[in-house]
Amino acid sequence: MIVVLLGAPGSGKGTQAKILAAKLGLLHLSTGDVLRRNVAENTELGALAVPFMNAGKYVPDDLINSMVEAEIDAPAAAKGVIFDGYPRTLNQAQALDALLESKNRPIDYVINLEIDPEALVVRLGGRRVCRNCGQIYHLVSQAPAKPGVCDTCSGELYQRDDDQEETIRTRQKVYTDQTAPLLKYYADRGHMLTFDAAEGIDTTAAGILAALEGAV
Ligand code: AMP
Repeated sequence: MIVVLLGAPGSGKGTQAKILAAKLGLLHLSTGDVLRRNVAENTELGALAVPFMNAGKYVPDDLINSMVEAEIDAPAAAKGVIFDGYPRTLNQAQALDALLESKNRPIDYVINLEIDPEALVVRLGGRRVCRNCGQIYHLVSQAPAKPGVCDTCSGELYQRDDDQEETIRTRQKVYTDQTAPLLKYYADRGHMLTFDAAEGIDTTAAGILAALEGAV
């Protein structure tokens, strides 16, 4: 099963992808996570990507497309993949189509998470992430039991560099200019489902799972 999650920064793609991947046994492929791992490990890709990431801009398509190509054959992807944060440009969407076609694994669902842009600034500003396991928290709506400490693994919680307000606004503009056109690209193919991402994590996840249920 191949699922693509679309949505503005902060719409909850990462949180939903984690829930869905665990429930459906799919590989959660977050290009943002793969990039952050490369930055933490000081790889060549990480060094190339970090200036774009810190400015809230997109990393060049060719780097991202090759990265995805390298990840998609992982054994964990055998049952399926949930793409989180990819594709983000028309070039990436076309590259993904070509890649999936070559593997004979077409996209089954495109899930679009819809939310008011101002709500996103509040959401992203309060976001904290576990440095160890990647679990996502929010200072107001999903606070950890002990401030600064992950409930799951006791790892340290941190604020992403790109979650500062000015960078958030740049990321929103980049999303509107470069990624929002993908909604039409996928809607025209007739397999896009839109969900209200403001409803709360569990309600949104239940809605998506119910929609995918017939397919697993
Ligand atoms: P994310 O965790 O998905 O919000 O991604 C964090 C940052 O990584 C983005 O703001 C971009 O700089 C970069 N990034 C992640 N995925 C992509 C992508 N598909 N295309 C270009 N840049 C990306």
